[in-house]
Amino acid sequence: MILNVFSGVIFGLIISIISYKLKLLKLNGAIATFFLAWIIFGFGHVKWTVPILIFFILSSLLSKLQKKINPKINSVFQKGNVRDHVQVLANGGFPGILVLINQIHSSELFYIAYVSAIAAVCSDTWATEIGTLIKAKTFNIINFHQVEQGISGGVSLLGFTGAALGAIIISTSALPWLNNISELMTIIFISGLLGSTLDSVLGSTLQGKFNCIICDKTVENKIHCGKNSVHINGVTWLNNDAVNLAASFFGGFFSIALVKLII
Ligand SMILES: [Zn+2]
Repeated sequence: MILNVFSGVIFGLIISIISYKLKLLKLNGAIATFFLAWIIFGFGHVKWTVPILIFFILSSLLSKLQKKINPKINSVFQKGNVRDHVQVLANGGFPGILVLINQIHSSELFYIAYVSAIAAVCSDTWATEIGTLIKAKTFNIINFHQVEQGISGGVSLLGFTGAALGAIIISTSALPWLNNISELMTIIFISGLLGSTLDSVLGSTLQGKFNCIICDKTVENKIHCGKNSVHINGVTWLNNDAVNLAASFFGGFFSIALVKLII
């Protein structure tokens, strides 16, 4: 137990310091990552750490690449590429809770839900990062009207390819620890895709959208171009982070439902 706590602290420090130095995370994001990594590595060891670490490293690299190749798109996004504590917890908070729940009552089902929750946020992240690498026609997931590339609820063929890749990578990362490999990998993949689809649906319907009074773009920020933007539709406080949290929760929830139905 003492050794677990100690190794978790060391691992948390290494991850958060490197991420902060590489400008992947803001200071508050690095602090949140420290606690999350401490819990996950300290209690879950390699088995629970590998999927979320792969998500974090590959998504950070992809995000840097996206910013280099197509920097213009970032002004539409709610936040920049350097993640803060709210983004860290929106993506990793629910998985962190599952690690703790599994400490109290150990079950393979919690691990499937954990990996699926990460598959959902990875699928969503990669849909955005890969979907905005180059200029691509983007459509609203609900009414198929053409929309601004990078806006929540917008879908494109390129984005869907990213979503599928993100879900596949995470389901594969758990392969050494799965019993029914083909069934469970498929369930994690589908749950991840469903979670990120739900993210797009919520992003298109309930998430707050604003109009910038300076550049006249539809944006997700209450402030754009340094001025207060005008609320167009959606729930004002329901932002990208809340939608991501919902996607991770539903990714985990779908997987448990699928395991109960199929296996
Ligand atoms: Zn603007």
